Amino acid sequence: MPEFTIDLVSDTSTRPSKEMLAAMAAAPTGDEQRDEDPTTLALCEEVADYLGKEAALFLPSGTMCNLIAFLVHCRPGDEIICASNAHVFGSEGGGASAVAGTQFRTVETADGIFSGADVRAFSRPRRHRSPRSRLVSVEQTTNRGGGAVWPVETLAEVAAAAKEAGLIVHMDGARLPNAAIASGRPAAEHAATVDTVWIDFSKGLGCPVGGALAGPKDFIEAAWTWKHRLGGAMRQSGVLAAAARHALKHNLERLAEDHANAAALAAGIEDIPGLEIFPTVPQSNIFFLNVAGTGKTAPQIAARMAEEGLRLGVETPTRMRAVTHLDVDRPGIDLAIGIIRRAISG
Ligand SMILES: *Cc1c(COP(=O)(O)O)cnc(C)c1O
Repeated sequence: MPEFTIDLVSDTSTRPSKEMLAAMAAAPTGDEQRDEDPTTLALCEEVADYLGKEAALFLPSGTMCNLIAFLVHCRPGDEIICASNAHVFGSEGGGASAVAGTQFRTVETADGIFSGADVRAFSRPRRHRSPRSRLVSVEQTTNRGGGAVWPVETLAEVAAAAKEAGLIVHMDGARLPNAAIASGRPAAEHAATVDTVWIDFSKGLGCPVGGALAGPKDFIEAAWTWKHRLGGAMRQSGVLAAAARHALKHNLERLAEDHANAAALAAGIEDIPGLEIFPTVPQSNIFFLNVAGTGKTAPQIAARMAEEGLRLGVETPTRMRAVTHLDVDRPGIDLAIGIIRRAISG
């Protein structure tokens, strides 16, 4: 494994800071399964408050947040409407079908955002032969959609169409904190029209592990049973919850720096001949590089970058992904610009 001094492969690359580790070491703990871990209980209250929901549940991963939401909301054979490039559809091991027995109906969309009209078009009328349309899943921000931010108004429109069709709305809010900062609208406003929502602590917030799922009290009560069944119930989870509490306190507002860094990086390389950037102006901390016109493949470019200690994601032979985060500062971005220029054009 080469050492990457500038790792833009994902915002999951972050390491817990000294301050975060200190908060973890100092955390009061107890048995989470008995509701006796004070740090986890405090975190759940803070997350419920942040998202404007009644209750929240601490889980080991975002993937488990999505899976448990589907398990509680759906029955086997039910259909979930989501974007064609949704993480739940393409990046969670098929858990929704393998474990929850659900199937997806996907809306073709480049940026991962769809409309109320799409929900009306993709929800099935009740027929004996049809799978039951049950849930709409929205992703904020859209990961494989290039970090696009759903406008609060579009979320409301989708939720209204879903409600009309009798569907539940779930938000995969892995990067909802980024959306809140990028849009200047509180996370609770983004979550106001969805039934259930979660945030990831191991993305831009910089924690080593964890996510929290929020919604109505009875939903969280049912989610607890699935947390146990799936092996997600912990014991002294306070050491992990302390990292999340530290992140909510110190790492939210600074997401603006990641967004500015993504914009600076995109602006610094957009004129490279043959390179196309998507979206041309990043909305948050993610963007894609289409290298098809450069005469080099993504793996070739990645190998050149690796020699200088830079890593980007290789998505396909012609597509790379850059994600900014709290372990890469502006001087790092300036270095990355030079390395990318040399790797593609040199
Ligand atoms: C990372 C991610 C997940 C899964 O979260 P993990 O904590 O890695 O399990 C789900 N949805 C989106 C959009 C993500 O980016």
